[in-house]
Amino acid sequence: MRAKLLFPTREIAQQYYLPLIYTACRTCYSELEPDDIFERASSGRVATEKQQDLIRRVIESGHGSTIEHIVFTFAISGVTRTLSHQLVRHRAGVAFDQQSQRYLDYKRPSYMVPGTLQDASADLRDRFTAEMDDSLRFYGELLEAGIPGEDARFVMPNATRTNLIMTANLRALIHMSGLRLCTMAQWEIRRLFQLIRHEVFGVSPFLGSFLAPKCVPLGYCDEDRNRDEHCPIRPHKDNVLAAWAEKRTAAKAAGRELPTV
Ligand SMILES: Cc1cc2nc3c(=O)[nH]c(=O)nc-3n(C[C@H](O)[C@H](O)[C@H](O)COP(=O)(O)OP(=O)(O)OC[C@H]3O[C@@H](n4cnc5c(N)ncnc54)[C@H](O)[C@@H]3O)c2cc1C
Repeated sequence: MRAKLLFPTREIAQQYYLPLIYTACRTCYSELEPDDIFERASSGRVATEKQQDLIRRVIESGHGSTIEHIVFTFAISGVTRTLSHQLVRHRAGVAFDQQSQRYLDYKRPSYMVPGTLQDASADLRDRFTAEMDDSLRFYGELLEAGIPGEDARFVMPNATRTNLIMTANLRALIHMSGLRLCTMAQWEIRRLFQLIRHEVFGVSPFLGSFLAPKCVPLGYCDEDRNRDEHCPIRPHKDNVLAAWAEKRTAAKAAGRELPTV
């Protein structure tokens, strides 16, 4: 699996991305015109730390439109259709183009063997690869028999590899990373977003730092399947609320009412 950031380059990210977001943020609170703000930010008249500080506070406050002005384009290759089916469920602020199983008659379709099967008994692993090879061989036979690719592909397994190009604005990328870097996400898509985060870090460590499991900005885990806190990144919200209830009870006993809403 590969995820390569095609755009922006490090130079473009450093020259334009911070000033663009800073301009979006400052425009809301300034009498200056946006192009003046942008000129001051991109020429270095506004210190990078000052720009980052404002941007961090605005992102943490949830004012997401300010980070919709910048986009990241990734070439994603060698992922399975299992992954791509999950990925394209994201709708807001993201665009995809994917290798077509309809228009492309594959000469050699390839597939992925998941780690659990690689580590499984030789018998299971061999049966898995035999099933895959059979399906893909039959796909080739169907094409040779004149069955159109759009129908022959019906025999392709979920493990079949595919390629996509994805462009997401920063708001969408943070949202998607929040869900897909979470330890509850499926391993392959989680791995993809680890690669994506690595690529964004490569052009901007500051912007890359916002790509994190959703519990990090939230401060707690809201995943139902983590009530037992087997993932320890953040406490589960049940426990946070229980701690809050305890605090409220203690405050009440001391004669102080804490707000309940
Ligand atoms: C761990 C995990 C397990 C999952 N399991 C399943 C499953 O079993 N079955 C299944 O079908 N899916 C499953 N999904 C997919 C999930 O339900 C979402 O479809 C997917 O994660 C896209 O998320 P989203 O809708 O928040 O994101 P996006 O589509 O990227 O949207 C971003 C945000 O924009 C807003 N938004 C977008 N579109 C609308 C709209 N039309 N109306 C109002 N607000 C909108 C919402 O606030 C949304 O959160 C799973 C996802 C995860 C992460």
